[in-house]
Amino acid sequence: MQDIDLDLLEYLVYTDTDYIKAAVADTTYLPRTVLGVGTFLLDNEGQVDLLTAKQQVTFTKFLKPLLFDVACHGIAGPETCMGNGRIEGDGLLQCYKSNIFRCRACRNATKTQSSSPEEA
Ligand SMILES: [Zn+2]
Repeated sequence: MQDIDLDLLEYLVYTDTDYIKAAVADTTYLPRTVLGVGTFLLDNEGQVDLLTAKQQVTFTKFLKPLLFDVACHGIAGPETCMGNGRIEGDGLLQCYKSNIFRCRACRNATKTQSSSPEEA
């Protein structure tokens, strides 16, 4: 597995927990369970190996998709994505901050168009 982007994890665990809350919303898990695993990882430099088996399940179910497998929303819906449908890891933090989920290809495509509201 790729290394965890700790800045990204920190953002999801401490700055804006809504993404984690939304991820657990329709499950039997509690947000604090997932946040606890996230906090543990932050305290241990993202070493997933140090998690218990149960924590690893929680990580794989909720945190891993938020960190590594985020769908591009495309320019006008997911089917309009100009890339491969997934957002590159190095662009994710900005996506979470702006709440605009686009891969690099889609971001570049919108930049050349008339000014769409792209808040920093
Ligand atoms: Zn895209």
